[in-house]
Amino acid sequence: MAGDENRFDVLIVGAGPAGMTAAVYARRAGKTVMILEKDTFGGQITHSPKIENYPGFQAISGAELADKLVDQVLALNAGLDVDAVTRIETEGNWKKVVTERAEYYAKAVIVAAGAKHRTLGLPREEELTGNGISYCVLCDGAFYNDKHVAVIGGGNSAMQDAVLLSETCNRVTIIQNLAFLTGEARLIDKLNSTRNVDFIFNTVVTGFEGDPVLTGIHLRNTMENKVSRFDVDGIFVAIGQQPENEAFRSVCPLNEQGYIQSGEDCLTATPGVFAAGDCRVKTVRQITTAVGDGAAAALAACKYIESVVW
Ligand SMILES: Cc1cc2nc3c(=O)[nH]c(=O)nc-3n(C[C@H](O)[C@H](O)[C@H](O)COP(=O)(O)OP(=O)(O)OC[C@H]3O[C@@H](n4cnc5c(N)ncnc54)[C@H](O)[C@@H]3O)c2cc1C
Repeated sequence: MAGDENRFDVLIVGAGPAGMTAAVYARRAGKTVMILEKDTFGGQITHSPKIENYPGFQAISGAELADKLVDQVLALNAGLDVDAVTRIETEGNWKKVVTERAEYYAKAVIVAAGAKHRTLGLPREEELTGNGISYCVLCDGAFYNDKHVAVIGGGNSAMQDAVLLSETCNRVTIIQNLAFLTGEARLIDKLNSTRNVDFIFNTVVTGFEGDPVLTGIHLRNTMENKVSRFDVDGIFVAIGQQPENEAFRSVCPLNEQGYIQSGEDCLTATPGVFAAGDCRVKTVRQITTAVGDGAAAALAACKYIESVVW
């Protein structure tokens, strides 16, 4: 078994809002805590230039909120390191957490590995994210009141996004790579009867215009192989989300989309393994719901630790 320096009461995978909140609650309950983050402290919010729906802050940049979260967990003496978790195993009551660089042992593990929005994979997409390209209507829809936006995608999420945007935007164009929409008939009917919504079918986005802010997109009709340009104030990419949970599959059953199945208390099928935030099956993926999960998972983890003889 690893030395004491690699043994913790609670090990948290991912330093996004869910993982950081779990650390705050577990430390305040007197538990030793290590957070392992493979990429950026703060998680997805670090890609958001402006957050306007997190209570307590009228507006705050994702980077600033991430810094505040890091300061808070460090002030509470939680461990925070850069490393990618590749596997979790059960050894008796202990959980063995294998990373790219080390092995850890923990009484409880909270998986808060988040999810990523699928991107179009085009040049300049990252640079224009937050400057005309968005992946989240709940987060950014309000920045486009009375403007013309395009929703990229034709499934249920794209259609729900388009319905929401049509209530505040001047015009909403749905751009779909297929000849038809693939979501529920109810949503298709709703969009067909909404005056400020129009559709472009059999078409893919091939590039972006505008610097530093998006002003238009390049399109290619896949039937006629015809290219064109299209003026828009913003685009919402709604082609799905991608959880990154394969490394945890042996201890956390995943649903068909790859999200971790867990109860309201964030407990997974394995005692002592909890899932919090965007990585688990849930309906709303936002900072508020991630931090709620972080608190619930940490408190459930503490309760679990107290219930076991170590
Ligand atoms: C551009 C953008 C703007 C957004 N704007 C808003 C907004 O305005 N308001 C709002 O409420 N929400 C917003 N969101 C959504 C919000 O950021 C997420 O809902 C929230 O970050 C989820 O938190 P989380 O901790 O569950 O996951 P994440 O933030 O995804 O954090 C998970 C972390 O786990 C790490 N990780 C994954 N696998 C491993 C592994 N194997 N080992 C170690 N680390 C791992 C990841 O690198 C990541 O840092 C936005 C998202 C994006 C992308």
